[in-house]
Amino acid sequence: MNVKSSTCPACDGTGWVERRDDVGYDGHVTMVRCPDPAGVHETAAVARLARISGLLPEETTVRLDDVAPWGDTARMTELAREFIAEPWGFFTLWGGYGNGKTLILQAVVNEFREHHGDLGTYVRMHDLLEYVRAGYAPNAREDARARYERLKSLPVLAIDEFDAARMTDFAYEFRTAFLDDRYRLAITRRAHTLFAMNHDPSTLPGDLYDRMRDGRFVIFYNGDTSMRPVLE
Ligand SMILES: [Zn+2]
Repeated sequence: MNVKSSTCPACDGTGWVERRDDVGYDGHVTMVRCPDPAGVHETAAVARLARISGLLPEETTVRLDDVAPWGDTARMTELAREFIAEPWGFFTLWGGYGNGKTLILQAVVNEFREHHGDLGTYVRMHDLLEYVRAGYAPNAREDARARYERLKSLPVLAIDEFDAARMTDFAYEFRTAFLDDRYRLAITRRAHTLFAMNHDPSTLPGDLYDRMRDGRFVIFYNGDTSMRPVLE
């Protein structure tokens, strides 16, 4: 889908509309955010987020009901439902490969959009780093700071394979600053972040682990073994 914000009937792509408020004198107008009556800006935002996440079209339709209902995975799914109903900030899932963590992350982002109208995205840590780093290229359409700001303020962000990305100096600095920003939004419940990883989060640097295990948040260990068929 290729929707340009310039097709918006309300603002012609500027993102702003005039609102008459008569402040000071009759006919005074103030510029306010475009109310997006045709959903053009939202569609463009969803498409932009899809480029970051690299999700396949079928993955954007995943729901919690698609996750197998047994063992720790069932408990993990229940927690995810509670998180969507009343999100609490940081939600960390860890455990072995193939036990539904990725599906949960994708489903939460999708169901958040349905339940709260909040835009979010699922992204692997590696792709998140690449997306921001690409903003340093001289011909980048959006610079690294703009990319960082966009991600920082997303109402919901699900970061998969959080402990799998190669930690270069850039990656290390980014992760520290970014997690601190997301943490501050999380404790005031203005934005919510999910993490999935294979290793115990206590193996992360202390400052990150301390934020994840903040008493207001949840870390869930899924001890189920892989549900994927074993390939001989
Ligand atoms: Zn508009």
